[in-house]
Amino acid sequence: MKKFNTPLGEIDITLLGHASLLIKWQGKNIFVDPYSNVADYSLQPKADLILLTHHHYDHMDEEALKHIVTDKTVFVTSLTCAQSMKEANGLAQGESFKYGELNIKAVYAYNIQNKREDGLPFHPRGEGNGYILDFGGYRVYIAGDTEIIPEMKDLGEIDLAFMPKNLPYTMSDQMFIEAVKVVKPKNLFAYHYFEIDVEALKKSMPQGVTIQN
Ligand code: ZN
Ligand code: ZN
Repeated sequence: MKKFNTPLGEIDITLLGHASLLIKWQGKNIFVDPYSNVADYSLQPKADLILLTHHHYDHMDEEALKHIVTDKTVFVTSLTCAQSMKEANGLAQGESFKYGELNIKAVYAYNIQNKREDGLPFHPRGEGNGYILDFGGYRVYIAGDTEIIPEMKDLGEIDLAFMPKNLPYTMSDQMFIEAVKVVKPKNLFAYHYFEIDVEALKKSMPQGVTIQN
């Protein structure tokens, strides 16, 4: 667990594996993309808020959800996820949702280079979301399943980022490093990887970016 200070109080971050995160804030449990292959969700606390970036099985997983959802859990999801979850607040890219003082904005997450055998990208533009969580001006970027994309230039100042690396679905190490240079988060976690060489990544980080893995 790593702690970061925001104007709205401390956030405690736990990387549960793959793209799954637990963010504890003001006594609330915020889960991102809970996935039962990487953690035992029967041992996790109940969810106050769940963010789903997209509907792929490693991001929207009934088996994980059933352990942490209560009748009070709030969902913020992509529009595709929301089609099958009537209680979800589906966001298109650019749309926002207010959870108390926390502002959640959906941003683009998609592939340009990496495609399926049928020629379609693994993640078409406009389908899945990344999110920016704004804790009173402390901005956390959860990139979702994405490659380096032009929209990354316009994210604004990012204090903490979660950015994916693994082929073929997201980014190679080299592309990841290029994307980090564009986003320039103060603190960074690589996530959604199969393997990671943290020491090698550390050496490639631009000035001002601290990798926290
Ligand atoms: Zn995906
Ligand atoms: Zn994925």
